[in-house]
Amino acid sequence: MTSVLVGQSYFLRFDPKLHAQMQPYPPLGSLYAAAILRDAGHEVALFDAMLAASEDEWAMALDRTGPAIALLYEDNFNYLSKMCLLRMREAGFTMSAMARARGCRVIVGGSDATDHAAAYLDHGADVVLIGEGDATIVELLPALELGTDAALGAVAGIAFRRADGTLATTPRRPDIKDLDAIPFPARDLVDLDRYRRIWTERHGTFSLSVATTRGCPFHCNWCAKPIWGQRYNVRSPDNVVAELRWLKEHARPDHLWFADDIMGLKPGWLGRFADLVVEHDARVPFKCLGRADLLLRPGDIEALARAGAAIVWIGAESGSQRVLDAMDKGSPWPRSRRRRVACGPRASGSASSSSSATRERRARRSSRPSAW
Ligand code: SF4
Repeated sequence: MTSVLVGQSYFLRFDPKLHAQMQPYPPLGSLYAAAILRDAGHEVALFDAMLAASEDEWAMALDRTGPAIALLYEDNFNYLSKMCLLRMREAGFTMSAMARARGCRVIVGGSDATDHAAAYLDHGADVVLIGEGDATIVELLPALELGTDAALGAVAGIAFRRADGTLATTPRRPDIKDLDAIPFPARDLVDLDRYRRIWTERHGTFSLSVATTRGCPFHCNWCAKPIWGQRYNVRSPDNVVAELRWLKEHARPDHLWFADDIMGLKPGWLGRFADLVVEHDARVPFKCLGRADLLLRPGDIEALARAGAAIVWIGAESGSQRVLDAMDKGSPWPRSRRRRVACGPRASGSASSSSSATRERRARRSSRPSAW
């Protein structure tokens, strides 16, 4: 058994625009890592940077828990963490150095670390997880204890510096296909009451996040996807509904955010999910992300409404089919607009085109309060 302090370096406080909106979610990816390590028999504590004031609180957590391993495991389900803000990278460097100064072995994982492993290794990390790290961390801990180049070199999906200082990157580990085998996120380690207080005071309702999928198979040519690339795996509707039941009984959220890149991509998934939600009384109003072309499949919007969808965000990107084609997006936006009028959940769109017309629309929209 090894003692591990699991954290991440996304501090909402360091992101002024999002801090002003104050819609914090516990770091789902870090909570999965904590649950997996705990299931593997390790002693796990959590540091939640989302609501922390600065890296000093991480130092206090290190002093309080005295872990052998400090694991900075970014929340790969939260688009905020995926943005790889420089300030958060600096925080990751500082937190790694703080842990090293206290004699911890340091592991770092996430989108930015996957893309810039050498930089993290040069700033205090002993090992960087490349890509999806959930299975890697379990195999890595005993290897890290041995600490030899040979032991670390046998672990797939990592980067580290050999004893001679050269960079070693082991072959990428295949993604986990059986997502149902992964334990539910260790939400018991989070101060959910604090999140509830913040949400309720600011927005009148308490929202939590859930992930039903990992990755996205599409090729939109501006989209950076260092963790799952074009791969996509999905939990069964039964497994997701079991988590919703747990949430209803133990966390009592008023609202959920399904943090998938695309929810319900697999044909028939949404219909089965909606049936189970109704059957098990697991309905909680939610928002999620979809694609206009997929939502046009018969029955999917109706299933979303039945399951509790309040808002479905569509990455519309542009009103011009020519721009969409140039982005390799392939989404028939005008048809999706007609469809949304006829159905239940509210649809919202996001734009990422650099065309001047779209930029102007975005600028106008950014002055409005955002819907969550
Ligand atoms: S559909 Fe969304 S997540 Fe998938 S490639 Fe396009 S922008 Fe990225």
